[in-house]
Amino acid sequence: MKTEEWFTVTKIDDSTFALSELGHWEQVHSYLLIGEGEAFLIDTGLGIFDIQHVVEQLTSYPVEVITTHVHWDHIGSHGSFATIYVHEAEADWLKNGIPGLPLEQIRHDVGRDITKPTPNSFNPATYQPFTGSPTALLQDGDRLQAGGRELIVLHTPGHSPGHVCLFETNTGYLFSGDILYSGTPVYAHFPSTDPKVLLQSLQRLSELTDVMSVFGAHNNVRLSTAILDDAGQAASALLGTEKACHGSGLHTFGQLTLQF
Ligand SMILES: [Zn+2]
Ligand SMILES: [Zn+2]
Repeated sequence: MKTEEWFTVTKIDDSTFALSELGHWEQVHSYLLIGEGEAFLIDTGLGIFDIQHVVEQLTSYPVEVITTHVHWDHIGSHGSFATIYVHEAEADWLKNGIPGLPLEQIRHDVGRDITKPTPNSFNPATYQPFTGSPTALLQDGDRLQAGGRELIVLHTPGHSPGHVCLFETNTGYLFSGDILYSGTPVYAHFPSTDPKVLLQSLQRLSELTDVMSVFGAHNNVRLSTAILDDAGQAASALLGTEKACHGSGLHTFGQLTLQF
């Protein structure tokens, strides 16, 4: 099996691509943004196949990796790239892993419900999540440039402490990682999450102007901006209530479902 059979490439525009792993239950998307002579890769996927092989088919330019957050399903091929950005709040997770998250659980999750052939090199029983040092740390408001493309870093914690969204002003694209997508719940029910903080982040995203399209990290690739209104409604309805805490269950607003 070839790498390109594992990844589904969706052309968003002439120089922007979604690289999707639809043969895995998580339905993970990473995004490649190609500028003049340089490119950004937002996340590197599950690590079942090395995403670099499909990136190389789309661009020969140097690629800088931006991490939306340090969950294993978005950093799988980080080891194939020299330049890795991560928010400062998750630099330790990148170096040392997430304290208290059992390796057995990760191996169970990476290995189940796979509907496409995987390479011989992939063995869930010996799968190791990426660990390594970032080359640079991100803070809220940073502006990252690659060949004429500029991404603004929005620190949007709650699903994880150093989660970031990336907003490209020229195109109006908002890459929303694991804090805003449709199809399955956005998770804030396990120990390192914070429902209240997540709602504050959703509030902030709902107040962004000039967003043209939203691109989440799971399920559907391109979302209408109506999901930003759903995010705002979730924040208005739940912030300051007893539901903004762990254990309060599922909350649905339009396309968006939250699990607390
Ligand atoms: Zn996540
Ligand atoms: Zn995820």
